[in-house]
Amino acid sequence: MKNLQPPPRVFCLGLDGGTWTVLQPLLQAGHLPNLLALANDGLSGVLHSTIPPITPAAWSTFMTGCNPGKHGIFDFQGYDRRSNQAYLVNATSLRVPTLWQLLSQHGKRVAVVDLPVTYPPPAVNGVIVSGLMTPSRESTFTHPATLLAELEAQLGYEWPLLKEEDESGRLHADFSAFLKKMRLFLDSRVQAMLYLLRRAPWDFAFLQLQCVDFLQHALWPHLEAGHPDFQRERQQRILRDFFAPLDQAVGELVAAARHSMGEQTLMLVLSDHGFQRHRVRAELNHWLHANGFLVPQTEAPSRWMRHAGLIRRLDVLQLRKRLLPKSRRQALGTRLRLHSIDHQRSLAYAVSSFWGYLYLGPGASVSQVADLIEKLYAWRDPATQQPVVRKVFRREEIFSGPACERLPDLIVEPAPGCTFSSKTFFQNGTLLAPVTPEDFHAGTHESRGIFVLNGAGVVQGAPGQSHEAALQDVMPTLLHWLGLPVPAHCDGRVRSEWFDRPAVAIAYHQPAAAVQEEVAFSDEEERELQRRLQTLGYM
Ligand SMILES: [Zn+2]
Repeated sequence: MKNLQPPPRVFCLGLDGGTWTVLQPLLQAGHLPNLLALANDGLSGVLHSTIPPITPAAWSTFMTGCNPGKHGIFDFQGYDRRSNQAYLVNATSLRVPTLWQLLSQHGKRVAVVDLPVTYPPPAVNGVIVSGLMTPSRESTFTHPATLLAELEAQLGYEWPLLKEEDESGRLHADFSAFLKKMRLFLDSRVQAMLYLLRRAPWDFAFLQLQCVDFLQHALWPHLEAGHPDFQRERQQRILRDFFAPLDQAVGELVAAARHSMGEQTLMLVLSDHGFQRHRVRAELNHWLHANGFLVPQTEAPSRWMRHAGLIRRLDVLQLRKRLLPKSRRQALGTRLRLHSIDHQRSLAYAVSSFWGYLYLGPGASVSQVADLIEKLYAWRDPATQQPVVRKVFRREEIFSGPACERLPDLIVEPAPGCTFSSKTFFQNGTLLAPVTPEDFHAGTHESRGIFVLNGAGVVQGAPGQSHEAALQDVMPTLLHWLGLPVPAHCDGRVRSEWFDRPAVAIAYHQPAAAVQEEVAFSDEEERELQRRLQTLGYM
């Protein structure tokens, strides 16, 4: 007798930075009919991001079901306090097995396109095209390596990556050109996934769209109703040239996934974090210095500090760009930021940007740390008298697991609309700088992401924000739905209440998947990526 029960399968669409703030008014106005159909016929809600709500941390939590204390990634950069070196994270930095590794072990076939922190692409049972943090075309960023040529033959053009010319000026300085570029990113990724869906019936397919995050960062003033720099004509263009094609892609992808993977395929649209207006940048190291918590490196200048002095003099003459080769300039820039702080005598210093990542010096006492936290809470924007800091977390309050030692001692959540920077040239002591509409980060991240779930057995709920879940719940829920055991170390929980089928006991296990050996980017790749991330405002 024929078995009528089709194998459970999942299709995921990731909208990087997707937020109800933008999508809900568009849904209500009838501009996103395909997303609305999914939501009307399924379950949707708010998906709370990681702490911090930044892309590499959040997608790492999605793909492992774990908090950063277990997977080890909290930002684009990691920081080794013993060697005082910052480094860029990659797929091998993850300290727990990923969803794709587990699915592959169970013989499931996976296709994952454009997800951050999947470079270098792991050898899964299926295909991967690495996303953000892919160094360049010269690096092998697909698995199998031959897939790139296959996709480009299908597309009829080169797989678009951000290139140097995008970064040299301001990527979004020309509105029309920027919109066109985002559309190219959208179309190429969607066409690649449609091709992969036609090619084989995957058990799990994931398309992530980084362009949503890029677009919202740059064009936020025209996406938020009531923004002082809102221009209706631009809003209409963004709707016509980006969100309408995005919604059309949702319809095509869902149809293709159902055709290829079966009508019963579970559809999940989700984001890694939400978005909000970006109002002000606060210089955390400058503040620490001004308040006596940070001591700049002044005595017995090291070799790097002598370079720093040289570079500052060159900068005065606007010669730095011409005199130092690009690669050398970048390498110096990174190390300088860390070596211009006296780590032994400082009570605290910040590394990296967006949220505040504070490392405590060796001599920091309990009462000094308490004083630091109290003063952070008292920090006010003199222009508005509003607090700059929303919350200060001690590492152990929010993270747990063996990778905690890689994480900062204190994590400082900025007030809404505020982000932190951690520059260390202390001559210019500006503490707060308003964000202008021309800034590439006119919009910034916040915690409230989205999810829309649709498929056989999914309970129905009003479209929008009626349900809440955490990003770390998604991976265990999908594994359970696929009939597979959930790793016992996962922090997220299986959301059985999303489905109206009879409850099946959740099986837990200790996965045998070995964690990959950690490898670093080559110097050249690291420089390339640092330059790009800095230009994009992520570092
Ligand atoms: Zn993101």
